[in-house]
Amino acid sequence: MHRSHLPSALLLLVISVLAADLVPARTPLAESAAGPAAGGTTPPVAAIRCGRLLDVRTGTLTEGAVVIVRGERIESVLGPGGAVPAGAVVYDLSRRTVLPGLIDAHTHTFLQPGDYDVQLLKQSLPRRTLQAAASARALLLAGFTTIRDLETEGAMYGDAALRDAIADGVVPGPRMQVATRAISTTGNYALLGYAPEVIVPKGVQIADGPFEIRKAVREQISFGADWIKVYGDYRTFKPSGEIVDLRVTMTPEEMSALVDEAGRRHRPVAAHCYGDEAARQAIRAGVRSVEHGLFLDETTFRMMIDRSVYYCPTLAAYYKSWEATPTPAWKKVVDGHRESFQRALRMKVRIASGSDAGDFPPAEAASELELMVKYGMQPLRALQAATLVDAELLGWQDRIGSIEPGKLADLIAVDGNPLEEIGSLRRVRFVLKGGEVALDQDGAAAGR
Ligand SMILES: [Zn+2]
Repeated sequence: MHRSHLPSALLLLVISVLAADLVPARTPLAESAAGPAAGGTTPPVAAIRCGRLLDVRTGTLTEGAVVIVRGERIESVLGPGGAVPAGAVVYDLSRRTVLPGLIDAHTHTFLQPGDYDVQLLKQSLPRRTLQAAASARALLLAGFTTIRDLETEGAMYGDAALRDAIADGVVPGPRMQVATRAISTTGNYALLGYAPEVIVPKGVQIADGPFEIRKAVREQISFGADWIKVYGDYRTFKPSGEIVDLRVTMTPEEMSALVDEAGRRHRPVAAHCYGDEAARQAIRAGVRSVEHGLFLDETTFRMMIDRSVYYCPTLAAYYKSWEATPTPAWKKVVDGHRESFQRALRMKVRIASGSDAGDFPPAEAASELELMVKYGMQPLRALQAATLVDAELLGWQDRIGSIEPGKLADLIAVDGNPLEEIGSLRRVRFVLKGGEVALDQDGAAAGR
């Protein structure tokens, strides 16, 4: 989803957040005062002293727990008073609640709030890539240690480059799975509305017919796509926000070709669908997730349950649009979305957490969890959506999503108790990603 003409004050907000006084985003534990272990071959060890440690599987809070991190992985989780290994760097988070690093399963690091057409027409790809790197850093500092970035909105394969640069330590950011360009059919994605003789860029790769679509899938995978994103339907909004035209973009044959071709290369498919018709077609074709699902009924959710398809509602982007433009038409969108979400909740659909950040400043991505709770989800369930469920959606449940021995050391500390106040996720004070400190606002005890 994107929309136009957001006040530039939001962009200023992003910039001011980025300018906040934070530690350098890459502080290897090995460089602490404890120094590397003798011989330099043993990975550095850190001990995280937790005020409270949240077991996200059960909701249990353990006071005084200590997490031992060796290199990039969690070695053990000790109870209160557990012995800290000699030479470990100690991080004193005894005033904080520690929980797994959050996952956002629907972001657009290459999209900024503001005029969509201007971004595609007037901003160079290098400029957009630098902006995306800043967004990735903002997401990491907001506690999101992993994201699924669902298309670059016309910025080609920049997300694959950003993913790899982050993995190589060139720039700070979450670990990423990326969708590259996304696919829709002629007439069914912006930029639209220009004179036919004027050649304008498109926010997605346009492909028609099974053969073109298979070729587009192959191209995207060859240039680094971890996911294929498809537009199952597409809408045009009136300036008031009302959906004036919601149409299914592909024939069943086209959708099946897309999912089949992706599957041949073991790439899952994420389908943008607002309505039942597109969602059912996508589900029948075998997609792994349905994005947005503004207006989905029980039959569609039943199909999703039967086929283990995830629902990634992205409540935040639409809610914020309504807040910014509180017209009756936007209210209809938000009301329908809330009813769909509550239907899915009652039916126990697998609900993932993704915010559509990019439409709004990435530093606010945790507002997705606040909305899920506002609409009736238990705080623990919302936290599970943004950790355990999202990890499964990404196929990384063996390495992220919980604080358990053997998993990557992705953890955050917040000021407050998110089980009682989900808004405490806005007060992230410490971020550890793969054993490296990304944020340490307390200046907690490094090297002591
Ligand atoms: Zn989106």
